[in-house]
Amino acid sequence: MDHASRSIAFHPRRLAPEAAIGPPPVSPVAAILELLRSGERFLVCSHARPDGDAVGSMLAMGMLLKQLGKQADLVTADRIPNIHRELPGADEIRTAQTVYGPYDAVILLECDGLERTRLHGLKQFFLINIDHHATGREYGNLNWIDRKVASVGELVYRLVKAAGAKVTPQMATCLYTTVLTDTGGFCYGSTQASTFGFAQELVLAGADPLLIAQKIYFTTPASKLLLLGAALSNLKQEGRLAWMWVTRQDIVRTAATVEDCDGIVNFALCASGVEAAFFLHELPEQRIGVSLRSKGQINVAAIAKRLGGGGHESAAGCTMQGPLDHALATVLAELRPALASLARDTDGKSD
Ligand code: AMP
Ligand code: MN
Ligand code: MN
Repeated sequence: MDHASRSIAFHPRRLAPEAAIGPPPVSPVAAILELLRSGERFLVCSHARPDGDAVGSMLAMGMLLKQLGKQADLVTADRIPNIHRELPGADEIRTAQTVYGPYDAVILLECDGLERTRLHGLKQFFLINIDHHATGREYGNLNWIDRKVASVGELVYRLVKAAGAKVTPQMATCLYTTVLTDTGGFCYGSTQASTFGFAQELVLAGADPLLIAQKIYFTTPASKLLLLGAALSNLKQEGRLAWMWVTRQDIVRTAATVEDCDGIVNFALCASGVEAAFFLHELPEQRIGVSLRSKGQINVAAIAKRLGGGGHESAAGCTMQGPLDHALATVLAELRPALASLARDTDGKSD
């Protein structure tokens, strides 16, 4: 099949009525549903080191495909984090490095580039890219990138509703997890009125907000608390910038896993007066994992992109080459000028 000749891209801003010439454009939802209905076997995948939005949206998409009578394989490069392992159907997600098929299409959720999956063998298939990252790119044969929604789960929900499929309590639980985690518990700038509307519909469909929040926020293992202690003992603050790090030794000493590093950055951001924060953790082979966060005035996605990663304006990340000192200096060289220009802007406004 010549995939290139079947490529469809959606440019919402270019589809303004006054610009429309010829037949009305097909909506991404309609185009994706048509593909799902016409195929039989699909692969659903997301980014490596899957988070709540990745896992929840994959599971909900798998449930939709099953309701449509289709076969769905759910695959990620890394295992599902412990906090999401009890989600309905989570044990059906397989871990692999290479995918073989045959598939009528691959549905990529939450991946701003094909390489984010860390899966091999994808390029031979028709690719449906569904994403919401600020750094999202149209690498698929069919692309639906909506940067306004707080989680990709919200886009999967739109597909479910348009298909006339049933939002079961199990599906609602998976989708509620996507929005709860990607908004940091409804705290990040991506949270808007429609986010609560989405959450409300899911609770009415059977998602239990208390139970889901407890599984995610109140089941922290001792290893992560010890790792957090190590990170906090390295906390540095310089004006409105704060940062922390953990070494390989810290991770080994606390018996922590790389998964335990998730979310630690928020403890630097929560300091009073801090506008941007970052957290570095040493990975094997002298690689450094970097998490960047902002309270809204600094676009950390732009910084992460320059460092080879991506993400959202307020939450982004990348993986850099070590050693730790070198990565720290490089990130500081990006963030210090950004915060300095922010300080100049703020000074100007108060005049
Ligand atoms: P994290 O700091 O790992 O929680 O990631 C925050 C955000 O940045 C998420 O939306 C990730 O998808 C994105 N992100 C993290 N690491 C990378 C990377 N290496 N490349 C692209 N995006 C990333
Ligand atoms: Mn994600
Ligand atoms: Mn997401």
